[in-house]
Amino acid sequence: MKLAQILKDRCNKTIKECTNEELYYALLEMTKELAKEKESNEGKKKLYYISAEFLIGKLLSNNLINLGIYEEVKALLAENGKDITEIEEAEPEPSLGNGGLGRLAACFLDSIATLGLNGDGIGLNYHYGLFKQIFEKNLQHETPNPWIEKESWLTKTDVVYPIQFGGFTLNSRMYDIDVTGYDNRTTKLHLFDVESVDESIVSKDSIDFNKEDIARNLTLFLYPDDSDDAGRMLRVYQQYFMVSSGARLILDEAVKRGCNLHDLYEYATIQINDTHPTMVIPELIRLLMERGILIDEAIEIVSKTCAYTNHTILAEALEKWPIYYLEKVVPQLMPIIYELNNRVMKKYDDKSVYIIDDEKRVHMAHIDIHYGYSVNGVAYLHTEILKNSELNNFYKIYPEKFNNKTNGITFRRWLLHCNPQLTKLIEELIGPDFKKDAKELEKLLDFANDDAILDRILGVKNTRKTELAAYLKRTQGIMLNENSIFDIQIKRLHEYKRQQMNALYVIMKYFEIKEGKKPTTPITVIFGAKAAPAYVIAKDIIHLILCLQQLIDNDPEVSPYLKVVMVENYNVTLAEKLIPAADIHEQISLASKEASGTGNMKFMLNGAITLGTMDGANVEIAELVGKDNIYIFGESSDTVIEHYAKADYVSKDFYKKDKDIKKALDFIISDELMEIGQKENLERLYNELLNKDWFMTLLDLKSYKEEKEKALKEYENRKAWARKMLVNIAKAGFFSSDRTIAQYNDEVWKL
Ligand SMILES: *Cc1c(COP(=O)(O)O)cnc(C)c1O
Repeated sequence: MKLAQILKDRCNKTIKECTNEELYYALLEMTKELAKEKESNEGKKKLYYISAEFLIGKLLSNNLINLGIYEEVKALLAENGKDITEIEEAEPEPSLGNGGLGRLAACFLDSIATLGLNGDGIGLNYHYGLFKQIFEKNLQHETPNPWIEKESWLTKTDVVYPIQFGGFTLNSRMYDIDVTGYDNRTTKLHLFDVESVDESIVSKDSIDFNKEDIARNLTLFLYPDDSDDAGRMLRVYQQYFMVSSGARLILDEAVKRGCNLHDLYEYATIQINDTHPTMVIPELIRLLMERGILIDEAIEIVSKTCAYTNHTILAEALEKWPIYYLEKVVPQLMPIIYELNNRVMKKYDDKSVYIIDDEKRVHMAHIDIHYGYSVNGVAYLHTEILKNSELNNFYKIYPEKFNNKTNGITFRRWLLHCNPQLTKLIEELIGPDFKKDAKELEKLLDFANDDAILDRILGVKNTRKTELAAYLKRTQGIMLNENSIFDIQIKRLHEYKRQQMNALYVIMKYFEIKEGKKPTTPITVIFGAKAAPAYVIAKDIIHLILCLQQLIDNDPEVSPYLKVVMVENYNVTLAEKLIPAADIHEQISLASKEASGTGNMKFMLNGAITLGTMDGANVEIAELVGKDNIYIFGESSDTVIEHYAKADYVSKDFYKKDKDIKKALDFIISDELMEIGQKENLERLYNELLNKDWFMTLLDLKSYKEEKEKALKEYENRKAWARKMLVNIAKAGFFSSDRTIAQYNDEVWKL
């Protein structure tokens, strides 16, 4: 172990004498050296996974695990009185993503390296990433979240490209982060940064800055507030900066490997993660033409090189940029985009497949579908909805392009790293092979009737609940009853994910307890969620939950039986602590709206039972574990899609006809809550749910309540519950991102 030597050189101290921070930096240096020694993967064809987000989370422990030295380092530190989990806390979390989509990209890089595929990631080096969330007066506030310190996982490279925008040019420099494969070689995440970036234009305690100072602000924030033109335009600047830098890197590397550009698709394949990197298509066409290739051939080459992943059917997330934005930011791309659109218009009369619509907006997804070779959804149900309704007009033209790749998660982070206790127990029962072949977990089914083993599974869960309670007490001053049922909903705050439905359940439970109907085992409902800074209703929902938390905490009649907690600044680090401690996890999106979800997979793998709708990958979880091992409620996606088509859902009808629903909803604007919270926020939310409720909260509230009561009741039979946990863990192997990536490679990339 080089650690001692590194410490000597750095600060002339022994392990015992060092602070946790000094140890962290020394381990960082050591890990970077070891990763570098593992040569990168090679091959003729290379994959580039291009994404505006990589929610990588902290990297130290994961890299140590993947390099195979975690146990050794942990033991060495322990011999010297140091605790590796405390050293982990010195690492700032790079939050370079919003949620599931960015976390997926990070899991995919881990699996690409682990499977030994020749593939790198391409993205942007945001200095502040996603904002840090703080609560004040029961409201969310946003502050910057700096993560790049003098020493970090970034390695500066000599690769610099001039990137041209309408009227000015900025230099783009590439930084690399090594991605270690589990017991394999390493690949790279290439993050491009604008050389003139200036962190000082942001004040310390707010995320406001001059949105028009592109040279200084381009890589400061992930997804700046896009509620105005300047914010949206900045996104276009970011997107073009990323894809133009990436396209040049891809061409340079291909040429170095012997490509003559006419055969680019034999040397490179590009996976476009959602529509944010779509401009890579016209940009590559432009660059090929600059290098002497005629437009017909350039379009053909690029169409054989690019593949597109769709992540959502939410209309507001399918990007449509006004032409005048693109004319201003990237005038050099517009002749190509017009040409791409003209070719579509010549071939098809159906306006719904045009790239440019009557309102002079460019539909980014339409570029991907016409000029890419593959279109995939991210779970079985989602892909079916794309084919049969959302993108049906495209499916009729290109049935052969459409395919499904159900998402996955890396088990290195979401089991080995975050739950060593469960990992140890599994290894004792079925040996270590599950670490490389997740399907091996099915062998756990042999123990489904072994009472002693079921007890030990419950024991691990209890340990993790105790650990979570201690962690939240220490870091956020939150007190949990570790003997209560931990019912957890953690994910971005969005109306379609329906945190508001969970909050209405809490209100109903509150009334029941007030009326003397006490739960057998106390319930702790835990939320974690950031709301987009400009998403008003989402922030109102956070406000409601925080007000309920305060109300119940201060009510001695209710608080022994029910607790509501909203953890502050939900991020990957918190997810790693919350997920292993969950008894029940909430996946209660309106059916058809959650493309896949990956949180659901993490919870299942850690022995929590799903309470959810038949949406996204919940459908596949339900099929795998069987109806006795999951709690399903709510209307089907077909019914929901029909409601939208007929526009016949009226939330007020549900309010009028069910007195419990009425009582719960009315409580939002009750004197009790108004006294704690802000009138404006509570009234706005109340009116939204009563008069609009676009995501049909009240439609499913009743069946949700019933199914949740069933889950809480069945929790009391501990042995039967432990068996459900075991089945969920045993069946989680399908959701390893190693399986997802192997499918992408076999069916799409063909490396
Ligand atoms: C996994 C993960 C998500 C995605 O959760 P969903 O429930 O699938 O939306 C979001 N944020 C973080 C920090 C995650 O780890």
